[in-house]
Amino acid sequence: MAVVALLWAPAAVAGADGAAPRKASYGATVGWAIAIHGGAGVIERGSLSPETDAAIRTTLSAALKAGEDVLAAGGPALDAVEAAVRVMEDSPHFNAGHGAVFTSAGSIELDAAIMDGQTLKAGAVTGVATTKNPVSLARVLMERGPHVFLAGAAADSHAKAAGLAQVPNSHFMTERRRRQLDSLKMHGQGAMLAPGSRTDELRFGTVGAVARDRAGNLAAATSTGGLTGKAPGRVGDTPIIGAGTIADNRACAVSGTGTGEIFIRVRVAGQICDRVRFGGQDPEAAAAAAIAELGALGGDGGVIVLGPEGDGLFAMNSSGMYRARASAGGSRETGIYADE
Ligand code: ASP
Repeated sequence: MAVVALLWAPAAVAGADGAAPRKASYGATVGWAIAIHGGAGVIERGSLSPETDAAIRTTLSAALKAGEDVLAAGGPALDAVEAAVRVMEDSPHFNAGHGAVFTSAGSIELDAAIMDGQTLKAGAVTGVATTKNPVSLARVLMERGPHVFLAGAAADSHAKAAGLAQVPNSHFMTERRRRQLDSLKMHGQGAMLAPGSRTDELRFGTVGAVARDRAGNLAAATSTGGLTGKAPGRVGDTPIIGAGTIADNRACAVSGTGTGEIFIRVRVAGQICDRVRFGGQDPEAAAAAAIAELGALGGDGGVIVLGPEGDGLFAMNSSGMYRARASAGGSRETGIYADE
């Protein structure tokens, strides 16, 4: 069973000199904070070319900055998570928006969700095919209601009516992702959910953000193309509130990435918040426990978690996670591999 790694959590992270753990990491920061991820999977050192490594870090940094700018100016956490996710949706390096993975039918179907920790309002969409930034559609749904969750063509129509940019489905397609589908078909559909199948070639790269604003409000957003070779109509954990996405000021904000079917069954995001709110656990203990349950059922992946205080933390049972975080305290970090 894969071990749960807590990245940049107080007890798990060595200081810059590689010696003393940074005990003050969680709980030290008051004021705004943001953490983002660009997916978790088998990302071994040396598996990315220096150019790809640099391009991913540059995009993570740009996405982080989009969120930071909102928060540093006193803007709401919701705007920050939406802004950060939009940058990653527009990048070909991540499995969201442009660059998303293909369904088994050779199309792209996108899922996204956003949640406001203060009001517990949420918006979610699945099977989006023409809306350029699904996270913004989720936001529109959240703001205007009356429904929380819309699917398929109706979701795209809703986006169109709201004036959100529409694109042909081919806008989301990249050659790299098409090759991944071809490769998966060669290895058989069963490879999709098998533990350890999240190889570099079939890496997924869902994106997400959690933020806390100056007023102390939490928000979370997640966006994905799902799994390479998924059946048309398949719904993953990302748009299911409490599975891959949640925000609740009384507990924490969570965005997840990994084997969606198992995230749904373990109710990963909701479980973490419940452990904090009702079980009195620290966010890091809660995240570690939920990821351990995920692993016990054969799932892999990770979460970013942000509480009412402290910096964002990352927990995962895979060997890498694209991630970055920043806070009012001045900390700013970007990482890919589990050991950095
Ligand atoms: N959780 C996503 C899904 O199952 C995929 C991922 O995060 O890699 O749709």
